[in-house]
Amino acid sequence: MIISVASGKGGTGKTTVAVNLALALKDARFFDCDVEEPNAHIFLKPRLNRQEKVFIPVPEIDTAKCSFCGKCGEVCAYHALAVIKGEGGHQGEVLVFPHLCHGCGACSMLCPQGAIREVNKEIGTVESGSAGEISFVSGRLNVGEAVSPPVIRRVKEYLEPSKTAVIDAPPGTSCPVICAVKGSDFCILVTEPTPFGLHDLSLAVEVLRKMEIPFGVVINRSDIGDGKVEDYCAKENIPVLMRIPFSREIAEAYARGISLISAFPDFKGKFIEMRARIGTLLESGKAGR
Ligand code: SF4
Ligand code: SF4
Repeated sequence: MIISVASGKGGTGKTTVAVNLALALKDARFFDCDVEEPNAHIFLKPRLNRQEKVFIPVPEIDTAKCSFCGKCGEVCAYHALAVIKGEGGHQGEVLVFPHLCHGCGACSMLCPQGAIREVNKEIGTVESGSAGEISFVSGRLNVGEAVSPPVIRRVKEYLEPSKTAVIDAPPGTSCPVICAVKGSDFCILVTEPTPFGLHDLSLAVEVLRKMEIPFGVVINRSDIGDGKVEDYCAKENIPVLMRIPFSREIAEAYARGISLISAFPDFKGKFIEMRARIGTLLESGKAGR
């Protein structure tokens, strides 16, 4: 089973939930897909034994063959190419913006002159190893790069259907999150009981409903703020899987890189219960949808 852990906004405790769920389930596989800011390793302290670079193919233009027809600029959905047509005896130009390129290959495929060659550009790394019984894979986008889905996809190539996988997704509701949670059997949305938390939770719920991924909610710092997240979940038939109270001791453990269940062993049972409840919700069709 693939369980992803996501949140409409950063700083809600998403990684805390993902890491502790993996620790509570003995032989889980952990995938840090929050590739712009991976930090699960701080808590899991894995032994890494493999590192590989992630590349995407970006276009390189052969101006001797190019007719400056403009087709590549028109086909690129990401505005990574701009064609300046030649005028008054001046040769045209094709501008390539490699940081915007997603490496989809459409431009080289459609160029009528065969003037586009693809060259590999390194955009990140994937590291793997183990943390005790947990196998661990983590992606990292290189500083200055803007396109994270290829790194996330590379991390997810390590998924094995036979084992429980916990995916720590990036925060937000844009392409990287969709790429990370796609194919999950269940998604845990972590939120906090504040107006911002509720706003971003409702956006994340919309995304999961469109993707038809069953989900439930964990409310972190559950005893601060107001009751509107609880009211929203009740109204929308979204199960609340766990409530983690606000506590100075929890915050201190987090700041020292100590996992919740190492600092407070009682939480282990709560995460095991949550995993069992996810199974029951899926079987009964009562997960958020
Ligand atoms: S599609 Fe090919 S020929 Fe046309 S502008 Fe782009 S590179 Fe040049
Ligand atoms: S490979 Fe795709 S994203 Fe990159 S420049 Fe070509 S069309 Fe645009």
